[in-house]
Amino acid sequence: MNHGSNNNRAYTIATLGGHSALDVCLGAKRHGFSTLVVCQKGREKTYTDYYKTRGSLGVVDHAVVVDKFADLTSKGVIDVLREHNSIFIPSRYCQVYCKLDELEHSFPIPMFGNRMMLRFEERYERPNQYDLLRKAGIRFPRQFKSPSEIDRLVIVKASEAARGYERGFFFASSEEEFKRTASELVKAGQISEGLLKGAVIEEYVLGVQVNLNFFYSPLNNRLEILGTDTRRQTNIDGLLRLPASEQLKVLDRISVKYVESGHIACTVKESLLEKAFRAGEAFVGASKELCKPGIIGPFSLQAAITPGPPTEEIVVFDCSLRIPGSPGTAATPYSAYLYRKPLSFGERIAMEIKEAVRLGRLDEVSPSAEKLFGKFPRTTKRSAQEIKDEMKKRW
Ligand code: AMP
Repeated sequence: MNHGSNNNRAYTIATLGGHSALDVCLGAKRHGFSTLVVCQKGREKTYTDYYKTRGSLGVVDHAVVVDKFADLTSKGVIDVLREHNSIFIPSRYCQVYCKLDELEHSFPIPMFGNRMMLRFEERYERPNQYDLLRKAGIRFPRQFKSPSEIDRLVIVKASEAARGYERGFFFASSEEEFKRTASELVKAGQISEGLLKGAVIEEYVLGVQVNLNFFYSPLNNRLEILGTDTRRQTNIDGLLRLPASEQLKVLDRISVKYVESGHIACTVKESLLEKAFRAGEAFVGASKELCKPGIIGPFSLQAAITPGPPTEEIVVFDCSLRIPGSPGTAATPYSAYLYRKPLSFGERIAMEIKEAVRLGRLDEVSPSAEKLFGKFPRTTKRSAQEIKDEMKKRW
């Protein structure tokens, strides 16, 4: 592998088929890379059909269809990624569907970003996002160790019974209310009792919600805000469209969920930008201390802006340490204020990789790539040949 090469066509930008794959592929194509998407059987048509590259249309050059996203770290897929000289872009799907320890230690493919920080997003890990926020001095909602400490409105985040990766939410203002609501939800099968024990009990922050989507470029030692957005979540968005009287009736039968279904690009007033940058800079600094070399590329602080007094404040209730799944951020003006044209995260990532290739500094944006390359134990699954035969059939 020639990391010093100037030729982007020598590299393939690869990612998992979901979340932000099309944005990643479009950005890569705009900057001269080939693209490859590892898809899960049954949900591959977006990549193998609708947005497949054909002539001047589409952005997905190659697709590999596997049984499970977790097969990303199997020998067969690794071999195909290697043959394509791939640089892998992790998304939320890595944390949700893959085994993080394998991605960290048994995935000998250059991965854009600091792969060791993917697990910081998981609240049950230590160190985690709260450790980063604490170190950065960024305000986050107060957490209560036990329901007996509840002294204000709290939001309780517990894993759903049916889908461990999605959480069920409820609200309480006292221990008694917590217990009553929790037992109702467990009885209704919405939250599992075991997982309730690990639930996070958090002060509910009343503010306007905005995701501050940053990009940190190690090549330029520069922090950028590429875009801001707010979440569209079901069923809370549906509930909020009902008159209050109807909401109360419905909430007798249905519990609130915040399952992400998309985003709306939104702006923050200009006077808040400096506060946002200060928070982002502190976060990058903390990441360098807690997980060298720190954040590389995209990350997001998902915040509520509270009114004060004394002043408006950015309170962060969630962080992501990889590409955000909201390509609409390019519709906000912040990337253009810097680059004089709108940039999506996919494009910004491709630009950083292109620059790293040009400068022969690919290791700085995908650390350990050269050092780790070829040293991993190989796992057994479908062979590279089997996958290639299938790819040939599809393309
Ligand atoms: P999470 O998955 O933890 O980001 O939470 C899902 C949603 O719940 C968020 O998108 C927010 O809308 C809301 N939320 C989470 N934590 C808080 C909080 N502490 N205060 C207010 N809203 C919150």
